Parts: sequence; structure tokens; C-alpha cells
Amino acid sequence: MPDVSAEPPTTAGPLAPRALADFTTLRLGGPAGQVRTAETAEQIVQMVRAAADADAPAMILAGGSNVVVADAGVPGQVVLIRSRGVEVVESTDTEVVVRVAAGEPWDEFVAATVDAGWSGVECLSGVPGSAGATPIQNVGAYGQEVAETIVGVEVYDRVDDTVRRMAPAECRFAYRTSLFKHSDRWVVLSVDFRLARSTASAPIRYAELARALAVEQGERVPLAEARAAVRALRAGKGMVLDPVDHDTWSVGSFFTNPVLDAAAAESLRTRAAGVGEPPAWPGPGGVVKVSAAWLIDKSGFAKGYGGRGGVAISGKHTLALTNRGQGSTTALLDLAREIRDGVHDRFGVTLHPEPVLVNCSL
Ligand SMILES: Cc1cc2nc3c(=O)[nH]c(=O)nc-3n(C[C@H](O)[C@H](O)[C@H](O)COP(=O)(O)OP(=O)(O)OC[C@H]3O[C@@H](n4cnc5c(N)ncnc54)[C@H](O)[C@@H]3O)c2cc1C
Repeated sequence: MPDVSAEPPTTAGPLAPRALADFTTLRLGGPAGQVRTAETAEQIVQMVRAAADADAPAMILAGGSNVVVADAGVPGQVVLIRSRGVEVVESTDTEVVVRVAAGEPWDEFVAATVDAGWSGVECLSGVPGSAGATPIQNVGAYGQEVAETIVGVEVYDRVDDTVRRMAPAECRFAYRTSLFKHSDRWVVLSVDFRLARSTASAPIRYAELARALAVEQGERVPLAEARAAVRALRAGKGMVLDPVDHDTWSVGSFFTNPVLDAAAAESLRTRAAGVGEPPAWPGPGGVVKVSAAWLIDKSGFAKGYGGRGGVAISGKHTLALTNRGQGSTTALLDLAREIRDGVHDRFGVTLHPEPVLVNCSL
């Protein structure tokens, strides 16, 4: 987990009210009514059910790397997901299906797959947070996303009060979203990944990564090389957590890359005339995904911009809004609004936040 240094002793009981800033990678967020630590799937279900019975629905928090929590905090309970375990549940000569407990730190799991010679998530090296949160926004980076390897998600359904396994089609995975994002109904207990038995990576799709590896797009490289190259690229952008580097006190990308239809993409090209061609990736049905970082930069918000209220754009990546140490959620959201509105004024494109905003809004 990203903030283990701030972690309290692991007990499965209630903790005294404490600032959720202690549990988020932004180091922002006010107090919760009560924080409880769940170390097994059974404890997760029992705590969530007990909170519902008390008419105080619990918020789920794992690595805290994709949440913006209000300075006022959250009134009710927070259940910290700290369940552990990685188990092979199917195995053939060519593939394994691995069941990963929700609280398993994602990057430790990725490292274990690389060591074991299981291919399929190596380009997701260095993404902070927990395995159980990866289906929530269909975590993706450097040409891979978890929707490609997830074959089942075990959930506790708060509405039906049942535990069941959902097939990928039910999860409605899409770019940085799924059925689970912005819904409190499902609590992920474990995730099944189907991985190839191979010491070679999946084909390298991402141009920047291929360049770093000195291969053509579509070629494979040893798993360990893919992992090392991804982590190095990420570190250069402040996208690997480092407690002493404020450029990493963030939620990663604050905005998703906007997906535009053909008319909106053409309008953007017209408005961008003179500053260059916006980097864009074609998607299904004629849509185009455009680089939010480029839009932000060309709207006058350079790396390091801000500085008011203890928050600023990262010095290493235009898409990361960071807490410089003395920040607040209020200041962070003010900066986010300024950027969103500035990009809209300049290019007519609306940016949407990637993290989950808890008890606050843009
Ligand atoms: C430096 C940095 C780099 C990042 N890079 C990337 C990247 O490259 N690609 C990417 O996709 N993301 C990236 N992220 C975002 C983040 O790491 C991922 O979204 C991650 O999966 C969040 O995991 P978490 O355990 O921290 O979730 P949390 O922040 O704890 O929770 C996020 C949301 O998921 C819900 N949730 C968490 N666990 C569960 C569960 N078990 N059941 C139900 N709901 C749950 C929470 O209630 C909340 O709504 C980055 C973040 C940082 C700080």
C-alpha cells in the first residue's frame, strides 16, 4: 500500500477517528466517523453489513491513490481493505488463472507475476493501490488495461446482501471506468486474472515504451525488461510513489483523456491551429481520444503551475495535481476548476476528473 508508513497497527477493530489524509496518496482529506481495518474477505463483508445494519453505510478505502476526500472528511464509517492472498485457481501448460485478494498491493502482485513467468500485466508495473481497486476504473497504462486479463470479480453485493463472482461482460469495462466506478453497490473481494505462461511480455503496444526498449511496436521483450522500463518511464513522470517527492503526492492523472466524436475532434483541430496538432488516438466508432496533458499545457498551465494554497501541477507531469505539503482539498479542487475552465475556454473541450471525489465536487 502506498502509505504503509502511516498505517496504524493492524487490528480488525475500530480505530479512533483520524484524518483520512493519513490514508491517501494526496495526503489530503478530513476525518471519518470511524475507520476500521478489514484483513479478510469475511471481515470486509461483516463490517460493510454491520454498517448498513446500523444505517451508516461504510465507505471503502484501499490504497487511497484514486480518491479526493473533502477537507470536512466523511461522516460515517470507512472500511480499510487490507485482505491479502494470491492463489492459482487454474493451471494449464500455457495459462494460469490467479485469484488475488482485494487488499493485495497491486505492484507487489505484478512483481510476483514477472518473477513467476506469467505474462499479461507487466506494463501495469508501478501503478499504486490495491488489486481489488483495479477493476473499479479498469486500470490501464502503457498499452495494457486490466480488462484484458480479468476473468472474474468476486463481489459483495450490498443491495442483495450476497457474495458472487461477476463475469467480465457484467463489469462493463471501458476506458478508465466500469460498472463499479461511482457506485457503492459492489465491494470487490477478489479478482481473477488469466495470464499466459511466458517469460516474454505481451506485445509492446505503446510507442513511448517501445522506444525506451529499443524495439518495434508489437514486439515482445523479457517480462523483467518490460517491468523495469515501465517503472523507469513512470518514475521520470512522478508516477511511482515516493514519500519524499511531492510530485508523487497525487492521484496520478487528475483528468481523463477526453474522448471526442468526429465533429468535436474537427472543431478542436481548428481551434488548435497555430499551436500544433493535438496528440490523438482513434477509437471505435470514429471517436478520438485526445491528450488531456497537451490540452492543459497548451492552455497555459505548465508543469509546476499553481503554488497557491500548497498545491500545484507536478513538476514532472502536466496531468498530475499535487499537494506540496501544506495543501488542502479545497485548494486542489480550486486549481482543478481553474484548469478545467481554462481548457474549455481555449479549446471548447471539457475535462472530467479521473479520481473518485468523496464528499466534494468540481
Ligand atoms: C502516482 C500515481 C500514479 C497512478 N497511475 C495510474 C495509472 O497509470 N493508471 C491508472 O489506471 N491509475 C493510476 N493511478 C490511480 C490509482 O492508482 C488506481 O486507480 C488504483 O487502482 C486505485 O487503487 P486504490 O487501492 O488506491 O483505490 P482507492 O483510492 O482506495 O479507491 C478508489 C475508488 O475505488 C473504490 N474501491 C477501492 N477498493 C475497492 C474494493 N475492494 N471494492 C469496491 N470499491 C473499492 C473506493 O471506494 C474509491 O471509490 C495512479 C495514482 C497515483 C497516485
